[in-house]
Amino acid sequence: MAGRASTLGAWYTTHGRHALAWRATRDRWAVLVSEVMLHQTQAARVEVAWPAFLAKFPTPEAMAAATPGDVIQAWGRLGYPRRARRLWEASRQIAARGWPEDLRELPGVGRYTAAAVRAQADDVDVPAVDVNVRRVVDRVTGRRLTPTEADTAMVRLGGPLQGRDRLLALMDVGALVCRPTAPRCPTCPLRRRCVTRGPLTSEGERPPARPFEGSFRQRRGIVLARLRAGPTPRVLLDADALESLRRDGLAVIDGVTARLP
Ligand code: SF4
Repeated sequence: MAGRASTLGAWYTTHGRHALAWRATRDRWAVLVSEVMLHQTQAARVEVAWPAFLAKFPTPEAMAAATPGDVIQAWGRLGYPRRARRLWEASRQIAARGWPEDLRELPGVGRYTAAAVRAQADDVDVPAVDVNVRRVVDRVTGRRLTPTEADTAMVRLGGPLQGRDRLLALMDVGALVCRPTAPRCPTCPLRRRCVTRGPLTSEGERPPARPFEGSFRQRRGIVLARLRAGPTPRVLLDADALESLRRDGLAVIDGVTARLP
């Protein structure tokens, strides 16, 4: 093969992150768990957490037989624990009724996750644009694309790769080469087609991410850590953070005590 498309394919073969543990499976459940974890957690941390979590809950049925508290406990300190609760709800649905045709019917599964699981597990030729792929297609075309435009651009840029390989190749270009800051344009397999060859001007205008330190998220994390250790008197806990966790199904209040669900 010759030309830009084979350039991406060749780059992916040589430089793709093939060693990531979840790349070795085509099991839908295992892929779904990896995507849910990767949604808000860096790959390096997921690499540690994913095998142990899967060992505890290797199938939707295994998770459905557990309590949400068991799942939140196993989620550990991965952060954004609502994901664990939603995964448990999804497992109950799958165990009871099987996998839905449209994965977006599962709790916590949105447009991207549904497409990413179908592409990776079933090799369905559906575009899936995560944050890394989005950055690549925006930079290559030189502007912020709508979701539909981003889907189209992904298919165009990734061809003739399809489905699983197209998604993983572009995802890896975003993670390894077209990084948020200091993209490595001279080594990029897409550089000949790229309008910007660097960050979009508007990327510098993004507001800084809210710091974790001192945030409400941190207060929730502290309460959840106490509950993981066992039922705790409410008087010892941050009331607002506890109430927020209760509303999200991550904590239960029994009179003067709080615990995992
Ligand atoms: S040439 Fe640079 S900016 Fe363009 S896609 Fe490649 S790494 Fe990103």
